[in-house]
Amino acid sequence: MQVTIDEQSGFCFGVVSAIKAAEAQLGHQPDGLYCLGHIVHNSREVERLAALGLKVIDDEAFRNLHDVKVLIRAHGEPPETYRIAEANRIELIDATCPMVLKLQERIKKGYAEVAAQNGQVLIYGKAGHAEVRGLNGQTGNRATVISRFEDAVPLRYDKPTRLYSQTTMNEGDYLKLADYIRRRCAEEGGTFDMVNSICKSMSARAEKLKQFAQAHDALVFVSDKKSSNGQYLYEICKTHNPHTFFITEPNELDRDAFISGDFRSVGVCGATSTPMWLMESVAETIKQLPCT
Ligand code: SF4
Repeated sequence: MQVTIDEQSGFCFGVVSAIKAAEAQLGHQPDGLYCLGHIVHNSREVERLAALGLKVIDDEAFRNLHDVKVLIRAHGEPPETYRIAEANRIELIDATCPMVLKLQERIKKGYAEVAAQNGQVLIYGKAGHAEVRGLNGQTGNRATVISRFEDAVPLRYDKPTRLYSQTTMNEGDYLKLADYIRRRCAEEGGTFDMVNSICKSMSARAEKLKQFAQAHDALVFVSDKKSSNGQYLYEICKTHNPHTFFITEPNELDRDAFISGDFRSVGVCGATSTPMWLMESVAETIKQLPCT
């Protein structure tokens, strides 16, 4: 049985930079380093960094800290976080992804423009997601967050409307939503403008993953269950290869399926939050099975 790891699976460059920033700091911080929220949606990677001294805190704990260093992860933060840091003399290690930072700036500027015309800003993204909170924070939380297509239906479109998206949403769904809102604006007398803010490394990944799924007899998809990107990419794999197995770590591998299954080639892949070391460990476990 040949086992191949999908080279383009694993962390996006924004997450890689944030983890490198954390590791660089941890090398010089005997007391550890605080991180506002989980640096990545993968508990194995969070555990690895915790062992090095990275301490995850929530918003409430952050508000009560003074005179310490805190890492901001790739998702970014709303302006309120920077205000609290300044007031509490917290030094921020800002690992916000440059693309998220640029999007925050565009939304801030876009909001100022449409607000002057009594218009509205819409953000397509998961309500409550850290990146969305950072984006909406640029509007003083006055943008409307659309998590599902249905959320857009009851809105009024008789005013200037500007649409943005969280960077990790499905591009096809976003463009469908944009078409719908464009049509509603035309019908109701509003103007429409949109920014395609989906991260290109994400949209390209979904397309390449389809080919990877079809090129193997079976797939092992490695991801944390709470990763929404993981659920999305897993569905793509499952659609293009019915022999796709979802696992979070090597010991969840369905050994019998591989020992008794007639799989000549197995692909190992994962979400943007799956560390490469975890996929390598899964690949090694498969190679050790008696059938190989
Ligand atoms: S914008 Fe792209 S590279 Fe940056 S954090 Fe989001 S998914 Fe990763």
